[in-house]
Parts: sequence; structure tokens; C-alpha cells
Amino acid sequence: MNSVDRYLFKNLSPFREMLRTRPSLFLDYDGTLTPIVARPEKAYMSYEIHELLRVLTRFYTIVVISGRTLKDVMARVDIEDIIYAGNHGMEIYSRWFTMVYDSGGTVKILLRRLGDELETIARRFNGAMVEDKGFTLSIHYRLVDTREARRLVTDVKTLLMPFEERGQIRLTEGKKVLEVRPPTTWNKGEAVKWLTERPILRGTTPVYVGDDVTDIDAFRVVDSSGVSISVGRMEDSARFYLKGQAEVKKLMNYLKELAERRELGG
Ligand SMILES: [Mg+2]
Repeated sequence: MNSVDRYLFKNLSPFREMLRTRPSLFLDYDGTLTPIVARPEKAYMSYEIHELLRVLTRFYTIVVISGRTLKDVMARVDIEDIIYAGNHGMEIYSRWFTMVYDSGGTVKILLRRLGDELETIARRFNGAMVEDKGFTLSIHYRLVDTREARRLVTDVKTLLMPFEERGQIRLTEGKKVLEVRPPTTWNKGEAVKWLTERPILRGTTPVYVGDDVTDIDAFRVVDSSGVSISVGRMEDSARFYLKGQAEVKKLMNYLKELAERRELGG
């Protein structure tokens, strides 16, 4: 299938047919529920998306999954009855269960040390920011001038490469962000796998919506049992795609109508 054929709103009947059991919704936060903004601290959902999300919790089990810390993503969404997965699923909280992935003490000490060194690099670039998320570190450079950004990325990689080569950390890249993570195989995909085995989600058809490279692991996990939907580009790895973040609202409205018309499996 070419990408034109996989545009979700031209494939609503195959999409509906794939919802064989009660669907559960896995929604990424930045770039999916919110537009991408220059300053990550300013990324909030629109009033309409927030209301839709609240209404959808009446019909679906909903997971909001993010690279942000659990505390951060929970404060931004602030709706009860949602399952929150922060730090790419390394910390999970819901009213039914919680989980913290233990990456071990040694790596935490190393991350703290690398955080200090990254701060030193970031200070040389106007607009660069290091975020210590406890389990992971992020270096944001959306506000750094393009040519300077290239130098920043090179400097960061030069610092981190030896640690990555020794298998002490993993370096991943997102949208204008570099992320230092523990050398575990835990990622959004593993988190989705773990979540779909919880009683409240077992047997549901997972629908995963995300816009970032880190969502690809989750797309692969849901592909056998559910539906993956990419937001914007990267449509190759997902079953369907939306043209941009603005269409997420349309998808949520569609899911709300389906639920109200009771046209859902299970
Ligand atoms: Mg995202």
C-alpha cells in the first residue's frame, strides 16, 4: 500500500473493522495531543482536546504516554481515570496500578554525572536546555540557531559516544532533542506490551497514536493486535496516518461518535 492509501480518513471502514474488541487508546502527548511548540514547557492541550479526552474516558480505557516525566505529563493532562506513562513508559501511574522500571543505581549515578557535563556544553549555546528527568536526560535545542545546533549535536555526541560504545547508556534522537537513556531495552513498545497485559486492558484492541521516532517501537507492538496511527510524517511504520496534529481532534471526535453509536467490538 502506498501512503495515500493509508490516510486514516480514507480508510474508516477498514479501521472500524480492525476494532474487533473494545478498543483502548494509547495517546502520545507532545505533537499528538498538543501542537509542537518551541518551548516544551509551553505545550498544553487545547480546551477542546482536553474536553474530548475527558469524554472519551467514559467509553475507552485511555493511556497517555510520553517522554516527559510522569509528574509533568500528569500535571498537564490532569484527568482522573487515565493511565499515565512517563519517561517513555519507565514510570506508570493509574488508579488501578503503578509501575517503576528499575534501571539500577549505577546508571543513575552516571546519568547525573553526564547531566553536569551536558550542562557545561549547553551553556555555550544560546537556547539550549538540559532537562534531568531522573531516569533519562534530554538536551533540547529547538531554540538554537540551525548552524549552531549542528555543532551542539556534534559536541554532545562526542561526549556521549564512548559511554554508548561501552553499552553504559543509549543515545536517541527526537524532534530537536537528544535523549540519554539507560542501556535497557525498555521503550514505549515494551511499556505498551506490559500495559496490555494488565487486567483492565487485557483483550482490548489497542489503538496507538503518536508522532515521534520513539513511537515506532509501540507501533510494532500494537500492529499484531491493534491499530497504529502516525501523526504527520513517518507513515511507513504505521498502519494508518493523519496529516497533522490538527487532525487528532477529528479522530477523537470520530471515536466519540463510534462509542455513542455503540459501533464498537466487545
Ligand atoms: Mg510526540
